[in-house]
Amino acid sequence: MLSYKLGLEYAKELDQNDVLATYRERFYIPKNKRGEELIYMTGNSLGLQPKVTKTYIDKELSDWAILGVEGHTQGETPWLPYHEFLAENMAMVVGAKPIEVVVMNTLTANLHLMMVSFYRPTKSRYKILIESDAFPSDKYAVESQLRHHGFDEKDGVVLWKPRHGETLLRYEDLETIMASQGNEIALIMIGGVNYYTGQYFDLKRITELGHKYGCTVGFDCAHGAGNVNLDLHDSGADFAVWCTYKYLNSGPGSLAGCFVHERHAYNKELNRFTGWWSHNKQTRFNMRDDFDQLPGAEGWQLSNPPILSMAAIKASLDMFGEVGMLALTEKSKQLTGYFEFLLQQLGDHTINIITPKNPEERGCQLSIQVKNADKTLHEKLNEAGVLSDWREPDVMRCAPVPLYNSFQDVYLLVEKLKVILNDK
Ligand SMILES: *Cc1c(COP(=O)(O)O)cnc(C)c1O
Repeated sequence: MLSYKLGLEYAKELDQNDVLATYRERFYIPKNKRGEELIYMTGNSLGLQPKVTKTYIDKELSDWAILGVEGHTQGETPWLPYHEFLAENMAMVVGAKPIEVVVMNTLTANLHLMMVSFYRPTKSRYKILIESDAFPSDKYAVESQLRHHGFDEKDGVVLWKPRHGETLLRYEDLETIMASQGNEIALIMIGGVNYYTGQYFDLKRITELGHKYGCTVGFDCAHGAGNVNLDLHDSGADFAVWCTYKYLNSGPGSLAGCFVHERHAYNKELNRFTGWWSHNKQTRFNMRDDFDQLPGAEGWQLSNPPILSMAAIKASLDMFGEVGMLALTEKSKQLTGYFEFLLQQLGDHTINIITPKNPEERGCQLSIQVKNADKTLHEKLNEAGVLSDWREPDVMRCAPVPLYNSFQDVYLLVEKLKVILNDK
């Protein structure tokens, strides 16, 4: 347990001792109409823009201007292999091997592509298990896959639910579901870090359980990538997908990540949707050859990717490469622990943090339930210069991001919250 103190001076002291403090200056911090910096707590929704991103995008614009089509093969960062420049740092961020990761498409699109390969239902084994509070897009994607294969989504979706009166999920309940329906479940697809509660699941435990019953196991790590140490390779998961615009600061709607475990890298039997970018690089441009599968996650690409977005991802990943996930998560635990401490010190009984208390079971986000509150709380905070996220009926999600949020940000946020709560 880390221990903390009250007061602004202490927050300033923590900032002074923070080895990552200077990274804040490398981001644009949004401002209010009076030009004052906002307290930005929504990096879990859209990460902030690194100042260097523009330079990376300008570089590709300039190559395009000067080289035209030859930019594909010339220039410092030629476009044909551009995704390869991202693989090493992306693999580091999610705890994978470079052959296991690729940046392509968008998140939900990748989830569908992964289900084409890893959701292969039969008459008796066709169900998909998801968490009951899954992100809506994941739920819709899963339901549409069931329909696509001719199954009824009401019957085909198995929900892992919290117990009555609880919000977090328990592994014993998952074990119970598997014991009774494990042989009917084809795929387990869980949000690695739940977007609502911030609960970070034990990916390895879930994977081992699923595999024991003969299921494939995949994770949506949209709220995990760049936030927690995912160890995707060691988890043994069959696949994972994530976006890059949340904790990976790569711009609105930017491309997504995809992980396919190494044990599937050379399996050409695995059904998949393909395009020319999943074809052998050496002969891709011969155009008339029969399809020749690329090994690894790259072998799931369809198209040549939008380089301007890839450049924004490279800008961000180069920074992650410099910092490393260890330093990042170390500060994150301290920052979020401090946030939790200050909230507890308010002694306000209407406040209930639903995110797990154990730092190993969460990332930076705290989901704060405020009893009897409504959206006006969120609006008042907003007027006071705090950007947070509100989920009906009564949960506020705040994510102090270690790369650009300071201890003073957290201190000021709680001070403002205190004033608003005392006012009601
Ligand atoms: C953010 C998020 C999405 C968004 O999907 P897009 O395809 O990028 O629009 C989907 N699933 C989860 C779990 C998310 O957190």
